[in-house]
Amino acid sequence: MREEFQAPRGFHDILGEDLRKFRYVTSTIRDILRRHNFEEIILPVVEYADLFERSIGETTDIVQKEMFVFEDRKGRRLALRPEGTAGAVRAYVQNRLFAQRTYHKVFYEGPMFRHERPQAGRYRQFHQIGVEVFGVAEPHADAEVIKVAHEIVETLKIKADIEINSIGCKVCRPAYREALVGYLNSVSEKLCSVCLDRKDRNPLRVLDCKVETCKEAVKEAPRVTDYLCEECRDHYSKLSEYLKALGVPYVENPHLVRGLDYYTRTVFEVVSPDLGSAIIAGGRYDYLVEEFGGPPTPALGFAAGIERIALLVDTPKEREPVYFVIPFGDVIPYALKVTDTIREKGKVAELSYRKGNLRKQLDFANKMGYRYAVIVGEDEMREGVVSLKDMETGEQVRVRPEDI
Ligand code: ATP
Ligand code: MG
Repeated sequence: MREEFQAPRGFHDILGEDLRKFRYVTSTIRDILRRHNFEEIILPVVEYADLFERSIGETTDIVQKEMFVFEDRKGRRLALRPEGTAGAVRAYVQNRLFAQRTYHKVFYEGPMFRHERPQAGRYRQFHQIGVEVFGVAEPHADAEVIKVAHEIVETLKIKADIEINSIGCKVCRPAYREALVGYLNSVSEKLCSVCLDRKDRNPLRVLDCKVETCKEAVKEAPRVTDYLCEECRDHYSKLSEYLKALGVPYVENPHLVRGLDYYTRTVFEVVSPDLGSAIIAGGRYDYLVEEFGGPPTPALGFAAGIERIALLVDTPKEREPVYFVIPFGDVIPYALKVTDTIREKGKVAELSYRKGNLRKQLDFANKMGYRYAVIVGEDEMREGVVSLKDMETGEQVRVRPEDI
């Protein structure tokens, strides 16, 4: 097939069984968020590129090599959103949500775009559901947000580990940064070329490098948790206490830093051992709202990767029973009406557009997994009934359409 008639590399159609899993995952997550009283917000897919560059950080993978950036007709630089938090914070400030109440709990759902090398669980268009809590500094908000992530994997019966860490604040991070740079200088011959550059510009990024020699080199690196100021330490220990109170299992990973620059204090990931990667990730970003022109507003959130989660769920819930209406002879007006009557009762009905004998129609209904065949012949029409066949038990009865 000609290339221009195929989806671009890394872009996918989602259909059939994959779509059923996708919808099962999103509706399960949405139901959890409904019970936690998060309010939905629909964000644009395009923002000014600058918004992401300033918040996610110039030295991150996303900004350096993964963003789809383009110019509009006036030469303004726009980007397909690579993540949701920057847009959510922009919306929070632009719509002055801070003026309505002291804190807000919102969620968004939709496609994200990153120019990555496509592989299993890594696409150029993928989907996230993300939550953000604006206006709460206290660690019980962190605990509740992590609990939501835990509920998602529990409800979907996914095996996953929650890793948490605290990466400090403006007060304590400079001292840690200095210690880390000192350490990285001492092992610099083992670092990859990218990390040699990151080392001085954004040393925490080195802890997130996926190159084996770098992973090896940072094993003995100083731990950020040893450098936390008293307030950050207190925040982190309360978070642990609350997670225990909620019965959320977690492990502390002192080298967890996340791939975006805006985080402060709590960061966490929900990691699937089967995939070997994170399926949900997030943290606190206490300075970002202010950087975007809003009032000082502590905040936190996470994003869940729908496709990756869908790779881990079993076949979704049973499908709704389908009534397959098979017309025979000169009965189309009656068959149309019968199909309509079944739908009016809230059931799923399909009028067969196939030609062919009853045997073939029933074989088809079987193959499609339709639960009932509704046979409508001239006899049935004359009597105002249908022959309802249960495809599972083989039982067949004559009933009036309104009694189905
Ligand atoms: P990774 O380390 O795997 O590149 P990340 O740190 O870039 O992940 P985040 O920016 O934290 O990922 O995004 C949150 C979640 O979104 C991830 O945990 C993952 O489930 C999903 N995700 C991120 N990038 C992709 C992608 N290219 N394709 C599919 N899902 C993705
Ligand atoms: Mg990534």
